Amino acid sequence: MAVLADHYGRRFPYLRLSVTDACNFSCSYCLPNGYRAIPGLPPTLGAGEIERLLRAFAGVGMRKVRLTGGEPSLRKDLTTIIGLAAATPGVEKVALTTNGCLLRKRRAEWQAAGLTAINVSVDALDRERFARITGHDRLDDILRGLDEALVAGMPAVKVNAVLLRGLNDDQWPAWLDYLRDRSLSVRFIELMRTGTNLDYFQKHHYRADSLERLLQEAGWAAVPRATDAGPAREYTHPDYAGRIGIIAPYSRDFCAGCNRLRVTAAAIAVRWAG
Ligand code: SF4
Repeated sequence: MAVLADHYGRRFPYLRLSVTDACNFSCSYCLPNGYRAIPGLPPTLGAGEIERLLRAFAGVGMRKVRLTGGEPSLRKDLTTIIGLAAATPGVEKVALTTNGCLLRKRRAEWQAAGLTAINVSVDALDRERFARITGHDRLDDILRGLDEALVAGMPAVKVNAVLLRGLNDDQWPAWLDYLRDRSLSVRFIELMRTGTNLDYFQKHHYRADSLERLLQEAGWAAVPRATDAGPAREYTHPDYAGRIGIIAPYSRDFCAGCNRLRVTAAAIAVRWAG
């Protein structure tokens, strides 16, 4: 069987597929002024086109697909897409990254359609901080949705939190409380500098290795990576049900550990249209 690999010998069993660039939140590090559609772009791929694409990637070794955005749950056919992904021969895991806005309303149908993993963005456990970062006062609802996903037996539940100096770097004790009895993983993600966020980056960048040092001093131990894992370095602690993952894009081994392909349905539509 043909296997997708790059010149460095890395294989790609894990596909990240962005199914929309639209989002209804306005996170200060991502879309501070809210989402605005770029005029002139062709529409994103339909469910049938996504099905063909997934079959093609599965044919060259893809075993796990993550549906992302923007905010993927803004697509009315998301449950259909999850079902198509789960039914693709060779695909073993279907994951979703979401801001959680429809988690309580739709999680049961996503799970019934074949969703096996969910990542929800929660940048702070304090309601006012969360609203300040995301532009939406939805923290309580999202946390309830996460607890419901755990009770309902979702195989993998993760929380993503971007590390932001001055905005959420005092939330560490609250995260430890949160993780004590919950069997989920919180991923702390180091803010990346882009061509447009220099001021924000200089003000709010918090180094992931500072947090990693805190973790190690507090007795958290690194665990070995799974072959289809993302780029996080994972830590566990015997006193906590939950895990902590660190995503540090500026660390030396970040790219070496990555085995994900990123594809946007919009970008493919552009190429096909051209
Ligand atoms: S929820 Fe995600 S896509 Fe939407 S603004 Fe926040 S970080 Fe960006």
